[in-house]
Amino acid sequence: MAKVIAIDGPSGSGKSSTSRRVADRLGFLHVDSGALYRIMTWQCLARGVDTTDPAAVAACAESVGVECRPEGGAIAYYVEGEAPGNRIRTPEINAHASHVATVKAVRDRVTAILRGMTAQGDLVVEGRDITTAVFPDSPARFYLTASAEARALRRQREEVAKGIANQSAEAVKASLLARDAIDSTRKYAPLKKADGALEIDSTELTLDQVVETVLAALPPDWKK
Ligand code: C5P
Repeated sequence: MAKVIAIDGPSGSGKSSTSRRVADRLGFLHVDSGALYRIMTWQCLARGVDTTDPAAVAACAESVGVECRPEGGAIAYYVEGEAPGNRIRTPEINAHASHVATVKAVRDRVTAILRGMTAQGDLVVEGRDITTAVFPDSPARFYLTASAEARALRRQREEVAKGIANQSAEAVKASLLARDAIDSTRKYAPLKKADGALEIDSTELTLDQVVETVLAALPPDWKK
């Protein structure tokens, strides 16, 4: 059976960098589940769907074909043969993704895609409901947090470095808190710390320290 390391937490809590590093150290595949919600959002917007209309969002998401391929240590996504790239990382997608992610049909579809990935190998999966709903039985579950200021600053620097946007830290913080609020209060699979998950507050920690904390908490026979 494939091993799955599940990592949840709000935006900017360090999930992506940590997951990528841990996957790299262990030779597991890195899986960004948020990218699947972003792809569904991108396709809804491209087709002019009102993202606050659950029935329209569900119908659109059902028709999106997503191909998932292991590539360079991660699962890469393709939509109609094309990699979405930074088109799913814009402030517009940020503003709509949490609405799309409240729709049960979308969540069911993404959950099924994620569970199917265990056929591809051992995984490090990051997201908002991986420890609670997608892989709740994994013996390696983590909840990353950090102060809102630290999270906003990380996201803002990332957006500038990648040439995605040039928003103020305040604007990034407002968008991030708005998403946190929707993600943690939605009806289906809200963001919360799972019972039994190890909580790591990364506000004052370096990436290396967070990675080492995760690696140290894994079942002994999972470590290289
Ligand atoms: O992780 P990322 O910020 O890219 O995720 C974008 C959005 O997708 C989140 O704000 C959340 O609404 C949704 N999401 C989710 N469940 C996951 C991963 C992401 O609801 N497992």
